Amino acid sequence: MSSISADDLLKARQRIAGLVRQTPLEHSPSLSRLAGVPVWLKLESQQATGSFKLRGASNAVAQLDAEQKRLGVVTASTGNHGRALAFAAAQQGVKAIVCLSELVPQNKVRAIRELGAEVVIKGRSQDDAQLEALRIAREQGAAFIPPFDHPHVIAGQGSLGLEILEQCPDVCEVLVPLSGGGLFAGVALAIKASSPAIRTHGISMQLGAAMHASLEAGEPVEVEELPTLADSLGGGIGLDNRFTYSITRELCDQVHLLDEASIARGIRHAYREERLVVEGAAAVGIAALLDGLIEPRGPVVVVISGRNIDIDQHLRVLNGADA
Ligand SMILES: *Cc1c(COP(=O)(O)O)cnc(C)c1O
Repeated sequence: MSSISADDLLKARQRIAGLVRQTPLEHSPSLSRLAGVPVWLKLESQQATGSFKLRGASNAVAQLDAEQKRLGVVTASTGNHGRALAFAAAQQGVKAIVCLSELVPQNKVRAIRELGAEVVIKGRSQDDAQLEALRIAREQGAAFIPPFDHPHVIAGQGSLGLEILEQCPDVCEVLVPLSGGGLFAGVALAIKASSPAIRTHGISMQLGAAMHASLEAGEPVEVEELPTLADSLGGGIGLDNRFTYSITRELCDQVHLLDEASIARGIRHAYREERLVVEGAAAVGIAALLDGLIEPRGPVVVVISGRNIDIDQHLRVLNGADA
């Protein structure tokens, strides 16, 4: 099924130990009262660069050979993967190129430059930027590091699953935000290798959930990308998906889809009750609990995947807006 073993996850964890933070697992009294079982929050919002994506990016860079490290890495992500890869590459002394379209706002361009990456501006869409990244990979020999569908990226995200098992040995339900499935696949490989009885929940937004649509169709399919508060969960899984689709199909016990109002409630709950700034993608686990979608049989761990929300949007949501 997958070419990623439990041993690959252990090795990834050791390899990136000095490069990423072991994040805290915090008890949530309010969600525990609501759910009737202990609920714990795994705070990847406190990971360096503000999301779990640093784990996979660090592991992928660390596994390049000396020649590949000399030639550098390239990607086209404007979001958390771009930030993470820029940071991981700088930390390991490797050149990173991030390709962005002309339409990406200046503040995002600056943020990626400040993390030490070279920014190449090309074209007027994400697809144009992606083609440029692939061209640079071909012509300069730089390693193209994708955001989720790569064994080293998945194994890096799996280190988060290993931490959950250590920090909460009696966990019964694990709630994981689900988009391309790199996070879900890594965490679920760790959890199911330890105990197949622990239930894994993948959580996405209703608007443009590509992995859910693909699981329903029985093969990777395209979905229309729509604006959502959970912007880090947008985008497709790739029609030529090699790893995350089959691992998710095999290891995901339940998928839950949330509307925008619930995602907004999750962001508000995180701030008001837990004193956490979280982005929409990271709020979906809390939102699923608030909506009563999970029927927990025992302790719950909710993966809080990141905090990189636009501050003005955060204020609007706190003041009651759903979008
Ligand atoms: C990328 C991302 C996700 C989804 O991860 P996948 O591996 O694509 O499923 C969830 N939350 C945040 C904050 C992310 O950056």
